Amino acid sequence: MRKIIIAGNWKMNKTASEAVKLATLLTRDLADITEVDIVICPPFTALADVHDVVTDTNIGLGAQNLYWEDEGAFTGEVSAPMIKESGAQYVIIGHSERRQFFGETDQTVNKKIKAALKWNLTPIVCVGENLEQREKNKTFDVVSGQCKGSLAGFTAQEMEKMVIAYEPVWAIGTGKTATPAQAQEVHKFIRELISKMHNEDVASSVRIQYGGSVKPENTAELISQEDIDGALVGGASLSSDSFVKIIKNARK
Ligand code: PEP
Repeated sequence: MRKIIIAGNWKMNKTASEAVKLATLLTRDLADITEVDIVICPPFTALADVHDVVTDTNIGLGAQNLYWEDEGAFTGEVSAPMIKESGAQYVIIGHSERRQFFGETDQTVNKKIKAALKWNLTPIVCVGENLEQREKNKTFDVVSGQCKGSLAGFTAQEMEKMVIAYEPVWAIGTGKTATPAQAQEVHKFIRELISKMHNEDVASSVRIQYGGSVKPENTAELISQEDIDGALVGGASLSSDSFVKIIKNARK
């Protein structure tokens, strides 16, 4: 039985003091949740402060990106050991906004996953098609290419340590959610692909989150799908009210 994992991607929102306030509310309102792995991903500048708030609680901490080298002349970048020392246990890799606006490719995603695993950070690896690709019936080709490219060269043991997030780009921040059936279809496809790349045991243990306009009202139905093991939540993770409701509604 895979445990549900809900992660909040705060994107470029919240100063450190605002982030501490939101994290404090979440620790209070989610303290009794044991059935869901809860993760919040504030901006880099808030990681250490939010870590102080969530230490010894049921809320995990993640970063939103990393660079694959440990250190060096890479102005503006942040490495896995830096993230690790800030107290995070997770890192989002290959989010569609990074692919779209910052030139991230399956090859850079692959290097970043390697760096994350080296430093014992759990990668949340994002894949998903855009609207044009969906309309041209290219969804499975695109997702398959992204998975094969991003997840190439890892052992079964490494694969088991990852979380995959299927995020149709057309559903991110648009208010349009994939129907539970549309999402389930792609999740099942990804799981079968992992089975082919490794084996059935690995495929059945890897958690696959859905992301794209997840709200309190659509959470339960999405999560009830067999291959949907949680959610990566953007907009609705920025208020404690809606994020708490999403987590409560996600309990299968
Ligand atoms: C995301 O950023 O990963 C996301 C799914 O955003 P939203 O929930 O706002 O669509």
